[in-house]
Amino acid sequence: MKADLLVGNIGQLATLRGPAGPRRGPDLADAGLVAGAALAAAAGRVVAAGPADAVRRQVDLAAGARVIDAGGALVTPGYVDPHTHALFGRYRADEYALRVAGTPYVEIAASGGGIHASVSDFRERSDGEIAALSLPRLRRMIRNGSTTIELKSGYGLNLEQELRALRLIRDLDGSLPATLVPTFLGAHEIPAERREDREAYVDELCDVWLPAVAKQGIARFCDVFCEPTVFTLDESERILRSARGLGLGLKIHADEIAPGYGGAALAARLEATSAEHLIVIAEGDLDALAASGTVAVLLPATSLGLASTTFAPARKMVAAGVAVALATDFNPGSACCESMGLVLSLACSALRLDPAEALVAATHNAAWACGEGEQAGSLVPGKRADLLVHDAADLRELPYHMGFASVDRVLIAGREICFTESELRDRPRPV
Ligand SMILES: [Zn+2]
Repeated sequence: MKADLLVGNIGQLATLRGPAGPRRGPDLADAGLVAGAALAAAAGRVVAAGPADAVRRQVDLAAGARVIDAGGALVTPGYVDPHTHALFGRYRADEYALRVAGTPYVEIAASGGGIHASVSDFRERSDGEIAALSLPRLRRMIRNGSTTIELKSGYGLNLEQELRALRLIRDLDGSLPATLVPTFLGAHEIPAERREDREAYVDELCDVWLPAVAKQGIARFCDVFCEPTVFTLDESERILRSARGLGLGLKIHADEIAPGYGGAALAARLEATSAEHLIVIAEGDLDALAASGTVAVLLPATSLGLASTTFAPARKMVAAGVAVALATDFNPGSACCESMGLVLSLACSALRLDPAEALVAATHNAAWACGEGEQAGSLVPGKRADLLVHDAADLRELPYHMGFASVDRVLIAGREICFTESELRDRPRPV
């Protein structure tokens, strides 16, 4: 077998080999560790990964092949971040300070903050501004190890602006090495100017916007913010069924705020690809979620950003057989978090996942949560050679180092990604 890349001298390799499809129960804790390992790739895809001598026997290095000495370090698949709102204009640090001081969200929203602030900001900025503001953030996510990133629209909230958001995501995908997965989230909120005719808003979303999005082929998923105060269960189901009819995959913001509202059960019933947040999922809905193919995407950085101590009941989910994944929820309101490394720490300390479970949830299961399960999330032959060389020797070090990216080198499709310090900074500063 020919290879054009060999990563050798790997002290510990997390292959995540094992059953295809979202992992649950004991499989969730199996990172497929190999000591004294090597990995070979050709044309951006893994061709062999395992014990170093076996890999060397299996592959022939092509002339000019790249050889990387991992120096005895830990190598894992690149992180997959399956839930972000990374396309936005200015930050909302002012609201964070208010929230920490105890100001309720309704008060923040009433004084011009909240999601509506991001909507009016997004609408006012040019394409060039939004792209220039989003690029360094996405580069920081990649520098912190995210090699596949889902991105949602949802700060446009009219047809023209939502299509613009999806086009901008497509353009960013073309200018960044990571794989970006575009999701249509026109059902993020009812915009202020449509509050009086919400029924017409949902009609339009189903009958006009979704067909336009599907026709342009610029979204892979449709997502809905399902809460009694945002989109009701009936509205969410209608939107998601329309999206499915047009060939889009389904995601759902479920059971984040209103306890036991039933968004997770709806996701399971529709066999949605993922149900996300699930902080206040009804215990009675765990079995339905476990019996479905739907992946539960947990977002502990959001609880941190909201200065809340309430987290999704991850251990109950794992015990029930739910397939869990992790994501940052990176957004300017509730979770300004570009780091899957921090999410791993929270997943262990706050959600009580074991470090190996957290790694599987942040790679393999996260890939299944955004339609990339066949392509990414594990280091087995045929998948993209998206991998991280860590400044660590053991996977338990990943969550143990808190607020610090252990990621030393990032390879995407077999190519090493390096950004300059200035490419990683917010320039221009968003104001
Ligand atoms: Zn979200």
